[in-house]
Amino acid sequence: MFLLDEQVGEVRVAFTDRHGGLSEGTAASLDLGTRGAGDPDLVTGNFRRLAGALGVDVGQLVTMRQVHGDRVVALDAVPASPPAADALVTRTRGLVLLARAADCVPVVLADPAAGVAAVAHAGRVGMSAGVVPAVVAAARDLGAGRGLRAWIGPRVCGRCYEVPERMRAEVARIEPESWSTTSWGTPALDVAAGVLAQLRRLGVPAVDIADPLGPDRACTIESDDLFSYRRQGPHAGRQAGLVHLQP
Ligand SMILES: [Zn+2]
Repeated sequence: MFLLDEQVGEVRVAFTDRHGGLSEGTAASLDLGTRGAGDPDLVTGNFRRLAGALGVDVGQLVTMRQVHGDRVVALDAVPASPPAADALVTRTRGLVLLARAADCVPVVLADPAAGVAAVAHAGRVGMSAGVVPAVVAAARDLGAGRGLRAWIGPRVCGRCYEVPERMRAEVARIEPESWSTTSWGTPALDVAAGVLAQLRRLGVPAVDIADPLGPDRACTIESDDLFSYRRQGPHAGRQAGLVHLQP
């Protein structure tokens, strides 16, 4: 169920993989998305399993309707419906914030001492739009300080994410560290490298899941333990990065 599961003070940070759920076929099995071909009842069951593993009620899990933008929503309670946003931030204990992805970069942020937690969904478009600086600013507005740190989750890596030459040039003009080349020598983007560069400039230390796991296990295209839109197509499931600010 978890590719990484870490406790830091009263904050639990985790990234899910595709195992331990109920969904079948391309979305097998822990699909946490809403757009795949997956049976919605099975996805609901997957959320219940995740909640069980975290020791929370399923109603404490908060998702977003992700739109590849830079909007951050600050929450002090579970919203009536998932907000249209690509980042969430809270200082309300008990909430579990989720950012879902299947090639894009899920980012988790927390300042355990200050009691602030956040997530962001940073794909090529969101990273370029500045969702990461936006969520860092929002976390600091809520009281995060020098203890703010970040975790970068599984995503398509810079040696697999082939893009047209012009797209690479456009994105690299915004974030030069995202410029990359595939392992077969064609233009590519390394969105996670762009996210890490943005965090570094903002003074936020980050753990890249590719460091402890190895680059192939952190890449959605290379690892069959993960969902990938590029590898599996539109019926791919979604994994999640999540943060639980514990009571
Ligand atoms: Zn890769």
